[in-house]
Amino acid sequence: MRVPEPLSITHDDELYETIMSRMRAKLGVGTIREGTHVSDLIYCVLKGWGKKQLSYLPTSPLDSEEDDQVLVWVVGRSHEDIFGAGMIKGQPIVKDGIVGTIDWLEDAEISAEPTVVEAKSTRLSSAKWLDEMPHYIAQGAAYCCMHETTGCKVLVFHINGDYAHQTKDGKKKKLPPRAHLRTYDVQFSEEELAEWWDEMTKRKGIIEGEDKPLIEDWPDLIPVFEFECGYCQIGGLVNCPKWKEG
Ligand code: SF4
Repeated sequence: MRVPEPLSITHDDELYETIMSRMRAKLGVGTIREGTHVSDLIYCVLKGWGKKQLSYLPTSPLDSEEDDQVLVWVVGRSHEDIFGAGMIKGQPIVKDGIVGTIDWLEDAEISAEPTVVEAKSTRLSSAKWLDEMPHYIAQGAAYCCMHETTGCKVLVFHINGDYAHQTKDGKKKKLPPRAHLRTYDVQFSEEELAEWWDEMTKRKGIIEGEDKPLIEDWPDLIPVFEFECGYCQIGGLVNCPKWKEG
């Protein structure tokens, strides 16, 4: 087969910049959100406190978020739009001064009552069960509290499937990369949710406080999850001892 031979091939930097600038605007990169959101309270309270301090500045230093990171968010947002087809888009609600926006309310075709649905995309293997992604459970529980229900659905889109194509056997069989969708129904007791909401309001008090939270005072909350430090944009700005540049 003959492929036409171009006279030249060059990078189109103008197109690149235009697309990146549109993506940044669409995703709200660098835009400071008002209020304290559920997603501010799931993770490290020092990071949450630092972000709150930045929100008092006229412009956010996080405008300079790297393109590669912005593109990871684009992947997440794109799939959410597709999986949400037919569902009711969630609207922001406020409980005890905490803002929460669920992804969707499930429609009547799937369940009799509108149900809280949270969607996530991840590079983690689909061989993992939901309890190995506790931050998703924590967020789902918070939305259950806000919507006064004891159950929610969590969709997890594993963009790299179970990595079977990267195993020795997978390479031998020349398996192609796959993506997997895992869907979970998650139920909580009322007691567990009440305790979790108390925890959320406690964290709200910490990140909204005037004083910087210290690791000595909150060893379980700075960070909440070990993986956070690798993605942290705030650690250097708040002089966090756990933050390492680069
Ligand atoms: S580097 Fe880790 S511990 Fe420090 S603020 Fe960031 S997430 Fe929290």
